[in-house]
Amino acid sequence: GGKSYMFMIRTRIPGGVLTAEQMLVELDLCDSVGNETLRITSRQALQHHGVMKDDLPTLAKQLRQVGLSTLGACGDVNRNVMCCPAPLYGDSVRREMQETASKLADHLEPKTAAYREIFLQDPETGEKEKIASGEVIEPLYGQQYLPRKFKMGMALPEDNCIDVYTQDLGMICVHEDGKILGYNILVGGGMGRTPSADKTFPALGQRMTFVTPDQLIPVIEAVIKVQRDFGNRQDRKVARMKYLIHNWGLEKFKAKVEEYYGSALPEPHPADVHGFDDHKGWHEQGDGKWFYGLNVENGRIKDDETIELKTAIRKICNQFSPGIRLTSHQDIMFCDIAAENKQVVIDILKEHKVPLTEEISTVRRWSIACVAWPTCGLSITESERALPGVIDGLEGELAKLGLDSEKFTVRMTGCPNGCARPYNSDVGLVGRAKEKYTMFLGGRLLGNRLNFIYKDMVPADQVVPELTKVFGFYKTAREEGESFGDFCHRQGKEAIEAAVGD
Ligand code: SF4
Repeated sequence: GGKSYMFMIRTRIPGGVLTAEQMLVELDLCDSVGNETLRITSRQALQHHGVMKDDLPTLAKQLRQVGLSTLGACGDVNRNVMCCPAPLYGDSVRREMQETASKLADHLEPKTAAYREIFLQDPETGEKEKIASGEVIEPLYGQQYLPRKFKMGMALPEDNCIDVYTQDLGMICVHEDGKILGYNILVGGGMGRTPSADKTFPALGQRMTFVTPDQLIPVIEAVIKVQRDFGNRQDRKVARMKYLIHNWGLEKFKAKVEEYYGSALPEPHPADVHGFDDHKGWHEQGDGKWFYGLNVENGRIKDDETIELKTAIRKICNQFSPGIRLTSHQDIMFCDIAAENKQVVIDILKEHKVPLTEEISTVRRWSIACVAWPTCGLSITESERALPGVIDGLEGELAKLGLDSEKFTVRMTGCPNGCARPYNSDVGLVGRAKEKYTMFLGGRLLGNRLNFIYKDMVPADQVVPELTKVFGFYKTAREEGESFGDFCHRQGKEAIEAAVGD
């Protein structure tokens, strides 16, 4: 017989906003064509795993029937546009920013008709939609698309929940008295590294300019075109825009963007990120309704022997038809809940043994992991399946040290590609070999500082003991109110090693 091909399929969900109906279709599809689980990604999208090739058209078609698409969720184009998903309707700035993010996503979607021709034929008759004329009309992406994937996201200074410094193109919404003045544009962020390729590195975005709302799309197009025309097309390992900016320097890059845009661009506005809200728990929306941010461990939606998260989400969707929103921390929000239904939602979650946000530890709440084994083809070791155990261990040690209310991020990935953004977190654990991790320290929750390699090739069972030693040093030598990441950054690798006796 022929080979069977199995796929991971990602739905593009700008800003992580979807309806209960769309969520139910995604859940049905994971049962009918996927591996019975659904995963919330670190970019506010949804992923199906284990989809057979013959089922792809069914999936694409059913998603389209409810207004969803997988187009532009992968590939060398603009990926899912990230934006703070919190439905705070009293906050006109956040609302307008969310609308802008959704417009941007539409504007930057590939115009190709091939997607519809290939995937959207009628599964009954096999008849294809005849749309493509043979002519490729991609005004922005051109004949060859971009040299590499392109990621963007929009944040508020007071709420960097989408990790704006890790994006190829980050936007910080600058506002005053409830009005958006414009956006600071950051360029050249990106987490990905290739193992054994020293020329690759994680980078934070650099603050390039400030644009008014009406300049936003033209300037973004200019940035994308510069990367399209000058990004490296010979070597995919160094094809992301961060390498172009690294080679040219920010000044030359900005000059080229100005040339494409057609006029000079100012310096960035002084506004920068200074807060990060994970939006978990109950919040009033500003329209009398409430939303509940539920922690989903590592973004995996499934039913197992103990926790029936999939069933609980289905029930809540069927009973209340809530707006659904996904966060960059791989969590789900149930929105538009009337005050009198809040307890019913909690009761459904409890009935299915879903741990409530209020019940989980701070360290678990601020941790994320990428997929890795068994479904990611690039993984070197465990991540999603290993992190919960690491967190169990850390919980005990942190409690013993009286540090259990300290807020810091722990992010694990199964390879250096860095899908869970491990290079700017307080603690980064990056798969290096089978059951061995590179341990990074010294980033921070705000996301605007890279961490440093503290130890390489740490065996999986040594992760908790190694970290516990550093926590002990932190407890005795920290400054008042100093976060774990700030402490590690201030001390540096040598001082920490000396103090913990290595
Ligand atoms: Fe991404 Fe690597 Fe994790 Fe796969 S193993 S999801 S490529 S970080």
